[in-house]
Amino acid sequence: MIDRRPLIAGNWKMFKTCSEAVETAKQLAHLVGIDQEVDVMIAPPFTALEKVSDAIKESHLSLGAQNLFWESEGAYTGEISPSMLISAGCEYVIIGHSERRQYFGESDETVNRKIRAAVNHDLKPILCVGESEKDRESNDTFSVLDKQMKIGLKGFSLDDLKLLIIAYEPVWAIGTGKTATVDQAQEVHGFLRSTLDKSYGNKLAKSIRILYGGSVKPNNISELMAMADVDGALVGGASLDPETFSNIVHFLK
Ligand code: PEP
Repeated sequence: MIDRRPLIAGNWKMFKTCSEAVETAKQLAHLVGIDQEVDVMIAPPFTALEKVSDAIKESHLSLGAQNLFWESEGAYTGEISPSMLISAGCEYVIIGHSERRQYFGESDETVNRKIRAAVNHDLKPILCVGESEKDRESNDTFSVLDKQMKIGLKGFSLDDLKLLIIAYEPVWAIGTGKTATVDQAQEVHGFLRSTLDKSYGNKLAKSIRILYGGSVKPNNISELMAMADVDGALVGGASLDPETFSNIVHFLK
């Protein structure tokens, strides 16, 4: 049996100045301690990456970015390249978050280019997929997810995807306090794993971590993690407070 190590990832979105981010990261590092069973990642805003990287160097925490651009360098005002993220200490990068799709025009095609850039630089891409409330109500959840997966991962080989992580984030559950039921989450995670199985075979499908995201809190993490195909969580609001986030990380205790 393939052992999928849980990952609890915190997306800090556009919250926290550099000094606030460093302070939060230090407190979190202390509260998390050395957890042998769970990987923990935080994704502060770009402006805080390097300082947070220094602050968590000796800790169990890893660093991620919330976005990247696919070019190596050039006249792309406001964008950040993969090597800039690596030089700031990042190991992970969140790609295709629904807020980027909704407010910044990201499409499955741009997501695909971003994953390619991450893969080429050995950054671990966290590909976010998820249906809107309207998609769910009109029974389009699986076709929407299938399209996001097919186009997002178009052209990748088996070897390209060894660092890939998927985050299933139903758009209607992000920041709304509504969480998918554990059965809804398991159903979709099972579906996503089966699409990976069809395209890449059982070994890869069984080894890829699929995170759930959408109003994850200390009081619902354990039941979500008890589902066979839920391998961790991508946490927004509840990752901003070190104590709350560390309680999510310690869901096994
Ligand atoms: C997110 O931003 O990825 C997210 C899941 O947010 P929240 O936990 O606040 O719903």
